[in-house]
Amino acid sequence: MLKSLIFRRLSGKQTYVTPEAWPRPRPCLTLSDMHPYACYIISLLYPSLPVKACTTTVDSSKSHSYFLHRIATLLLSLIVFSSGVVLMFHSIEPSPHPFDLIAPFINAVINLGLLVYLVRFPKRIAQVMWLVFTTTMISLSIAGWYFSLQAAFSEEVQLVETLPPISAVPLLAIAALFSFVRSRWVTIAAAISWVVIAFPVLTYLAFHSDELFSPRGTEIALALGPGMMLATALIPVHRVRDRQIATLESDRAAMQALAERDPLTQLYNRRGLEKLFAKMLEHQRTSNNEASIGVILFDIDHFKAINDKYGHNVGDKVLCQVAQRCQAILRKDDLFARWGGEEFLAVIRGVEKDSLAAIAETLRLKLAEECISPVGKVTASFGITGLCKQDSMQALIHRVDSAMYTAKRQGRNRVVAKNP
Ligand code: GH3
Ligand code: MG
Ligand code: MG
Repeated sequence: MLKSLIFRRLSGKQTYVTPEAWPRPRPCLTLSDMHPYACYIISLLYPSLPVKACTTTVDSSKSHSYFLHRIATLLLSLIVFSSGVVLMFHSIEPSPHPFDLIAPFINAVINLGLLVYLVRFPKRIAQVMWLVFTTTMISLSIAGWYFSLQAAFSEEVQLVETLPPISAVPLLAIAALFSFVRSRWVTIAAAISWVVIAFPVLTYLAFHSDELFSPRGTEIALALGPGMMLATALIPVHRVRDRQIATLESDRAAMQALAERDPLTQLYNRRGLEKLFAKMLEHQRTSNNEASIGVILFDIDHFKAINDKYGHNVGDKVLCQVAQRCQAILRKDDLFARWGGEEFLAVIRGVEKDSLAAIAETLRLKLAEECISPVGKVTASFGITGLCKQDSMQALIHRVDSAMYTAKRQGRNRVVAKNP
């Protein structure tokens, strides 16, 4: 009945039919989307700035995604820029090889496309980096095979003279890939790339010792041989580092949860709610958001008697049941916390005075009408109030606390509102 009360915002923009139909919070990018190695890279690139961001608050996850996205964007921009420079160099060369003109052009276009895509869809960073890796590896292997076969079948052509100066690129591509993508396929992909890119060039050099022992031949052989193998072999090392960072991340998340959650009901504790509430108020202030905020504080009536009669364990069970039942009524983006022993606090955004009273009444009836075994019906006294412009959090809490005590004094099991 009351549960399906129609709550209407006074702004008239939105009508809430039932609590279940209230809008859910929008999904957002979280720390779990991030590659832990990114923290490591970020801490190397920006030693002063993000190390703290890597390890402290929930908000820091935004910094992670922000910096990771910035680094990938920068990387792609540099690839596009250097492809353009290479293209420019080859265009002013007396007689460039067609491949020298086509490859950097295609590379610039593809990476520019990927850059635009990444800017539009920042969450697809792993897919984008896979594509960067794949296209780079394909163009490198085409170059390797093309120039090796050309040199092998032509007496006048020498590979050390025709092969473009690309021997460091596979190393960079592999390093970029394992920095941005967390996948067990990275090792296999890097190993296959090594075989596909290095094989034709190294095989050619093995049969042309005059070219192999020239300065360029030795440099190519070292880069595509031990150099690239080393880059591939480093992947497992970084994987171990990944795991360590992931463990630290999850430990940090667990510790944060412990510090901000109540272990009995799993609701936020006072500390957790105060932190989120402060952020909500700050956001409200900075964004000039006019959405009204209401708070509901309730305290279970005669709870001590329940403990005395049934024991502390049953008292705990009642607390959990109360928490669950109220949470089922509240929206996911409402803040709900165990404020103290048997006191609970809900912060509700985008709700006017009448709606707030209706929500509190719904909660009160939910508790008062449904039994909790073996105790029976449990009631609570509610205080409600709305946030006004000049309110501090302390003033708001003080007001709702006093409303709740008025409800106690007036006989309990009721909702009392106090105006700002
Ligand atoms: P009132 O209607 O005036 O609120 O009476 P009350 O008995 O609910 O209030 P009082 O402050 O006298 O007692 C609160 C009790 O809540 C006392 C305390 O032992 C109990 N309590 C606080 N935290 C917990 C807890 O985590 N578990 C259990 N089982 N009891 C708790
Ligand atoms: Mg009480
Ligand atoms: Mg109390």
